[in-house]
Amino acid sequence: MTKPIAFIDLASQRDRLRQKIDAAIARVLDHGAFIMGPEVERLEAELSAFGEVKETVSCASGTDALILPLMAWDIGPGDAVFVPSFTFAATAEAVALVGATPVFVDVLPDTFNLDPSHLAAAIAQVNGQGQLSPKAVIAVDLFGQPADYPAIKAVCDENGLKLIADAAQAFGATLDGCQAGHWADAVATSFYPAKPLGCYGDGGAVQTNDPTLADHMRSLRMHGQGANKYENIRVGLNARMDTIQAAVLLEKLAIFPQELEMRDVAARRYADGLSAVVQTPRVLEGGRSTWAQYTVLVEAGERDRFAAELQARGVPTAIHYAKPLHQQLAFQGCVVAGGRLPVTEELARRVISLPMHPYLGTEGQDRIVEAVRKSVEVTRMAA
Ligand SMILES: *Cc1c(COP(=O)(O)O)cnc(C)c1O
Repeated sequence: MTKPIAFIDLASQRDRLRQKIDAAIARVLDHGAFIMGPEVERLEAELSAFGEVKETVSCASGTDALILPLMAWDIGPGDAVFVPSFTFAATAEAVALVGATPVFVDVLPDTFNLDPSHLAAAIAQVNGQGQLSPKAVIAVDLFGQPADYPAIKAVCDENGLKLIADAAQAFGATLDGCQAGHWADAVATSFYPAKPLGCYGDGGAVQTNDPTLADHMRSLRMHGQGANKYENIRVGLNARMDTIQAAVLLEKLAIFPQELEMRDVAARRYADGLSAVVQTPRVLEGGRSTWAQYTVLVEAGERDRFAAELQARGVPTAIHYAKPLHQQLAFQGCVVAGGRLPVTEELARRVISLPMHPYLGTEGQDRIVEAVRKSVEVTRMAA
């Protein structure tokens, strides 16, 4: 019998690393330093080397990784932070949690990432209204591909805004050979299990080349501590990464570069097999995606049928994201630049993600490609 196709297969990687991860966890049980143990410091050093940045501050989640720099810059009530609406909720949630106002900006139709010219227009709009003070931009590297950092950074510099890269889905992605930390003041990432580099629980990290910011965030993640544990110089969080998660990540990081290659191979195979029947992803020129998702576009009216046909052929799919953030109840009070986000709204009706992980294998992928071709055919005939 053939193996069922997993949307994201964590079991293959677990089986591959089982002995090493068991031993790594056992070492933590032996030394007993469950909070801020030696693995945490080692992981931070290795992540800094990997990300080509001076500093890495590990933390408890990708959401905390977005909150920490906002808090460190004292961004709060009365401040505007520009974010895409076509993203996971945490991007805007972090802004709202610190009391600032998310201003939703549209994305580009081909890369699904922040549109630099709409961003500039949104900043001008907020400045013109004079009610909020623009402070920062959070650019999301959606589905693993880098945002247009050179263009976004230029807009930030012109307006004196900080730039955060939400690389929760894209740790390891590059643009012209550089990772997001080359342009962004802070890079936030997530180690949620299903992300390209995931741990076995929640985890995250912020990277920066600014040592003062890093120190500030280290204090914030530990209840705002000062020179020692019992001195509190600011109100902070409990946002530390568990030592056990750091130990797991050290083992996974060792094979991560190879896994990124494997994801690239899988993405190329999808493009070869599918670009004639659906709109396959386009990566920004000079960009390299981590392929957190392989998301294609179909006609809005055909998506449900297409997904059902794939399901019937044993291929799971997912919709990221069916409802953009500016249309969610939680973000009703926020600002929508220009009043509507036509590209975001169209993408939300047309996107569908196919199974994607490093261990798809030629045979499994051939089955998916065949099922997609067949499903497109059947769906078109029914339309
Ligand atoms: C997953 C994700 C986050 C949040 O990460 P958590 O570790 O789940 O808190 C933030 N932004 C984006 C774009 C994400 O995909």
